[in-house]
Amino acid sequence: MKQKGNPYALSDDNKRYQTYNYYLRHRFGKKVFKVPLNVDLGCPNRDGTKGTGGCIFCSSKLSGDFAGNPCDDIKSQFCDIKEKMHHKWQEGLYIPYFQAGSNTYADVETLKGMYYTALGFENVVGLSVATRADCINEEIADLLGEIAEKTYLTVELGLQSVYDDTAKLCNRCHTYADFLKGFEMLKARGINVCVHIINGLPNETPEMMVNTVKVVGELGIHSMKIHLLHILKGTRLAKMYEKGDYQPMAMEDYVDTVCRQLTTLPQDVIIQRVTGDGAKSDLIAPLWSLKKFCVMNEIDKKMARENLWQGMNYSKEKV
Ligand code: SF4
Repeated sequence: MKQKGNPYALSDDNKRYQTYNYYLRHRFGKKVFKVPLNVDLGCPNRDGTKGTGGCIFCSSKLSGDFAGNPCDDIKSQFCDIKEKMHHKWQEGLYIPYFQAGSNTYADVETLKGMYYTALGFENVVGLSVATRADCINEEIADLLGEIAEKTYLTVELGLQSVYDDTAKLCNRCHTYADFLKGFEMLKARGINVCVHIINGLPNETPEMMVNTVKVVGELGIHSMKIHLLHILKGTRLAKMYEKGDYQPMAMEDYVDTVCRQLTTLPQDVIIQRVTGDGAKSDLIAPLWSLKKFCVMNEIDKKMARENLWQGMNYSKEKV
């Protein structure tokens, strides 16, 4: 039930931003689960096409820490995860989510096979594809456009920051202009784009993090994922941390930054995440991030205490 005094329209509880859960429940009338899959297409930022070594924060699991096992076919991965969810929610609907690595990094026929296979699974109501914007070309955008006409498709683009200096420092091997090129190809075909950003990147101030969200909020996006930078074992970021060259964000600063970011986004953008959760076994810091629900609660509490809500400071002129 909507909390008394909550001025934010797209909520039926205490949330003062539009959660993905709210959106999916209202769109499909039932609980909808994303099922993370891993097809191991690799990444151009690791194989030398764009760069080597990957982004400084990327684990060996290619940012798919909770995705399935790539040795299993996608049907087995999907059924395993669906089975676990089925115990809790017997009436659930599903969105296969190609999560790990860059899931448009293959020829169109391979991608077509993958996407349509996943769409054929039982109780599937959509598809989600995570990738880099520089792994989109016109042919791939046409395929995604064709799928978007048939089902609820979301393409998730990793941007992390609009600042090219940050991208360089993180070895992203793509610029904001590269991102816009891929983004525009998707937008021109009416495809829903979810943009993934990270707070706490090296050398970034909270103002820069808020500005990234402001700039991206102007683009006409479908949804956003806001993550916290995790230091994971075996990453280049872990080496920087050991040498004292990087300090993770404190929880209070993170909560404050996310609240500010939410107020600057348009009211109808769907917020798929307000924090991330790296695998516990691989996480070096910040350890407070393991208390994901606590972080989410702190965001809710601060927004209620200070009477903040998504979109309250959104203004096109400001950017
Ligand atoms: S682009 Fe994604 S998969 Fe590739 S190295 Fe960076 S975080 Fe990892």
